[in-house]
Amino acid sequence: MREYKIAAIPGDGIGPEVISAGLQVLETLAEQDGGFKLSVERFPWSSDYYLERGYYIPTDGLERLKQFDAIFFGAVGALNVPDHVSLWGLRLPIAQGFDQYANVRPARVLPGVRSPLVNGKDIDWVIIRENSEGEYAGNGGRTHRGLPIETATETSVFTRAGVERIHRFAFELAAKRPRKHLTLVTKSNAQRFGMVMWDEIFFEVANDYPDVTTDRELVDAVTTRMVLKPQTLDVVVATNLHADILSDLAAALSGSLGIAPTANLNPERVFPSMFEPIHGSAFDITGKGIANPVATFWTAAMMLEHLGEKAAADRLMAAIEQITAAGVFTPDLGGTATTASVTEAVCKALAQQVKKAA
Ligand code: ATP
Repeated sequence: MREYKIAAIPGDGIGPEVISAGLQVLETLAEQDGGFKLSVERFPWSSDYYLERGYYIPTDGLERLKQFDAIFFGAVGALNVPDHVSLWGLRLPIAQGFDQYANVRPARVLPGVRSPLVNGKDIDWVIIRENSEGEYAGNGGRTHRGLPIETATETSVFTRAGVERIHRFAFELAAKRPRKHLTLVTKSNAQRFGMVMWDEIFFEVANDYPDVTTDRELVDAVTTRMVLKPQTLDVVVATNLHADILSDLAAALSGSLGIAPTANLNPERVFPSMFEPIHGSAFDITGKGIANPVATFWTAAMMLEHLGEKAAADRLMAAIEQITAAGVFTPDLGGTATTASVTEAVCKALAQQVKKAA
């Protein structure tokens, strides 16, 4: 029996609701499969935990997480903690501490889901976000607080090693997709140093991937292309900040933030990778039982694939698509289903698959 150790960090807001739903579906899958087992440990690290103790992650926290095969993360962010404190307190220390430099964000309009675009069915993208440096390197400072000469700097950091490894990751992924097309997103017209190096290294790496076609697009222009010509994009590689923004747009164009998954990968597998829905804490719907768990289910499928359980991942995606096609939607997608009823529907679809196969 293959056994995987999963660290679940539900976090804040709707995080605990969707992570519980995700774990229920994963449990069902493992039971039905019979070939693998998940041993899950829940970590209570959240903004409430921080407000009680003054820290999100205990001193030995990363050391403890290192023992796991994967991290299943909900959301972080609370109304009574500044966003930069919660983000730098929980999510970023894990992503940076475990060198999860490749953030993978697939976007596709699932069956039955209505995209705000007329040609939404053409969306089939994977956005690769550089996840370890760039604009979110944490390099800066603030002096002379409160004085008229108060100064703040926030310097982007681009290293050859960091840029090369993310471009190589993007080319590897693009090479495995049917269309084999990779778009470089940049802003090298206005930013003459880091972004110019970002472009140069992309085209150096491109020489190693003659089968992958490429193009280069400014970040502002790519937003219009996503909306007007979605069919022209396949894999997109962008910096930490650019991809952060583009993937929210991609999620909205795919129907809802409640659907979009993401994986923070340490491709060399020295450290565990982290899987999370793109959405945040969503305070407006917290505790109402109507959070869409589909993003977390899709996230769980990405986690299973990373763990080597491709068949289970495919079964889970098929079950998700079966219930979206049947119109089992939470209110964000225009339906009246609840987190619990969508979860039940997916578990039922999984059970039907087993019956059909028998
Ligand atoms: P963050 O800054 O952490 O990314 P945010 O405040 O920008 O978070 P979210 O918390 O993701 O954004 O919420 C944005 C909107 O999308 C809210 O109206 C929220 O209710 C909705 N939303 C987000 N996730 C879901 C979900 N899983 N199901 C239903 N609606 C969702």
